[in-house]
Amino acid sequence: MKGTRNDLREQQRWAPLLSMAMMLGWLAVAPSAQNRAPYDLLLRGGRVVDGTGSPWFRADVAVTGDTIAAIAPRIEAPAARVIDATGLVITPGFIDIHTHARRGIFEVPTADNYTRQGVTTIYEGPDGSSPLPIKAFLDRVAAAKTSPNFGTFVGQGSAREKVIGSLDRRATPAEIEQMREIVREGMRDGAVGLSTGLFYVPGIFTPTDEVIELAKVAGGMGGIHVSHMRNEAAGVLGSVRETLAIGEQGGLPTQVTHHKIIGVQNWGRSVDTLKLITDARARGVDATIDQYPYTASATGINALFPPWSLEGGQAEVVRRLQDPAQRARIKAAVVENIRFDRGAGDAKNISVASCGWDPSLAGKNLAEITRERGQEPNVENGADTAISIVEHGGAQGIFHAIDEKDLERILLCPLTMIASDGEVPIFGKASPHPRSYGTFARVLAVYARDKGLLRLEEAVRKMTSLPAWRLGLPDRGILRVGMKADITVFDPALVRDKATYEKPHQYAEGFAEVIVNGVVIYEHGVMTPARPGRILYGPAKR
Ligand SMILES: [Zn+2]
Repeated sequence: MKGTRNDLREQQRWAPLLSMAMMLGWLAVAPSAQNRAPYDLLLRGGRVVDGTGSPWFRADVAVTGDTIAAIAPRIEAPAARVIDATGLVITPGFIDIHTHARRGIFEVPTADNYTRQGVTTIYEGPDGSSPLPIKAFLDRVAAAKTSPNFGTFVGQGSAREKVIGSLDRRATPAEIEQMREIVREGMRDGAVGLSTGLFYVPGIFTPTDEVIELAKVAGGMGGIHVSHMRNEAAGVLGSVRETLAIGEQGGLPTQVTHHKIIGVQNWGRSVDTLKLITDARARGVDATIDQYPYTASATGINALFPPWSLEGGQAEVVRRLQDPAQRARIKAAVVENIRFDRGAGDAKNISVASCGWDPSLAGKNLAEITRERGQEPNVENGADTAISIVEHGGAQGIFHAIDEKDLERILLCPLTMIASDGEVPIFGKASPHPRSYGTFARVLAVYARDKGLLRLEEAVRKMTSLPAWRLGLPDRGILRVGMKADITVFDPALVRDKATYEKPHQYAEGFAEVIVNGVVIYEHGVMTPARPGRILYGPAKR
C-alpha cells in the first residue's frame, strides 16, 4: 500500500514537467530578451545521453538562461555562444546523494574535486550527521556561493546528540518528541529527508523503533530515509532488514547508502542483501541503494573500537583506556575487528587518511606505523597502534576490506545509484580516500568502458535521473526541454579517474564542459570564476 502511494506521489511530482517537455518536443522556447541571440549557449554535434538509460542520439542542445530550451538534430538559430561537442558525450550533470562536503566546501566553494568529474549537485548530512539547525547551515552554504548545487539531509544522530548526548540508553517519550521536533524543523528548513548512521555513536545506541518514530515525521513531510547501516560485516543481513523496516514502518522510501560487504568471511553476501532489497520492493517497500566504486572504505580509526567503549565521547574513551582491565577488553575487540572485519586480517590493510595531532601519519598504514614504533607489525601490535592513535585524539582511516565481486554485483543492480561518500579536500593536504576525486569518472572509465560491465547510458542513469528521482528533484537529472541546464560534457574514450590511495590529489580527466544552471563552471581543464550553485530545498520547503 505504502509503496503504491509513494509511486503515485512520484508520478504526480513528475507529471507536469514531463508532459510539458513532451508538448514542447523539439520546439524551442521563445528568446528570453530582445536584441539577443535566441539562445545563450548551444552545444553542437555531441552524442546526447539523456540520463534515462535510453540509447544515445546525436543532437544539438540549446540553453536559455538556466533552462534547456531546445534539443534537436540540428539547431540553426544563433546562440550567444556555441560550443563544439563533436566526438563528445552530453549528459545531465551528475548528482551525488552522499557527500561530507561541509568538510571543505567553505574553504573551496568551487568544489573542484567534484566539478572536475562532472558533478553539478551535492548532498550533505548523511550517516546520521548534519549540522543543526538546517536553516543556519544552508544559509551559510548559500552565502559561500558554491559552484555546484547543494542540498542536505537532517541527521538522526545529530538530533539524538542534541537531546541525549552520546549515551547508551533508551530515549524517554518526551525526548523522542524533542527529536521529532528537530526533524520536523529540519524538514521545514529544506532537508530532503532523514539520514541515519546506526554504526556510529550515538546512532549505534538507538533502537529501531525510535528511528521509526523520527522516520514517520520525515516521511509525512515528503522526505526519504538513507542509512549507513548498523553493521556492514557479519551482521549485514540483519542491518538490511532493519533499513527496510524503517522504510516500511516509517512510511517513506528507504536507501542503503554506500552499500558494501566488509570482512573476508562475509564476502559474497551481496547476493543475499540484494535479494532482500529486491524482495522488499516486490511487496511494496520503496528501497534503493547507492555505492562508491572502491574496495576500501573510509571512516574514523575508532571504528575498530567496540561500541560500548565509545559512549560519552573522547574523554570517556581515554578514561577507559587508562583502566588496564577495560583496555584489555578494548584491545581484544580491536584485534577481532582487524582479523575479521575492517582490517581483513592484516594491519597493513588499514591506513591513516588524515591525523590532526600528527599530520605525518597521513598515508602510512598501521603495519608501517607499528614498525616505526619498534614492534613486529602483527595484528596484536597493530591493535596497540590503533589504540594509541585513538588515545592521542584519533585519525581518519582507510580500510581495505571489500571484495571486487561484491562491488560489481551491487553496481550492476538496477536499484543502485552512484555516490561518492567523499568530501571537498584541500588540494594536496592529508591523504584522503580517492573517492572524493574519482568516483564518477571511475564508474564511467573502469566499469562502463574498460571492463564493459554496464552500458555508458546505464552508468549515466545511475548518476543522474536515478538520484534525481530518489531525491524528488522534478527538474534535474534528465536532458529534456524545460529541465534545468545542469550539463556535463566529456570524452567517453578519454574519461578517467586518476586519484589513487597513494596519490589521491589528482583530478579526473576527460571532461570538457560542466554547466550548472546554464552557466559554465569548468571548461577544458580550467575552472571558470562562475559560482552559480543553488540551494536545492527539500519537499517541505519547495
Ligand atoms: Zn557512511
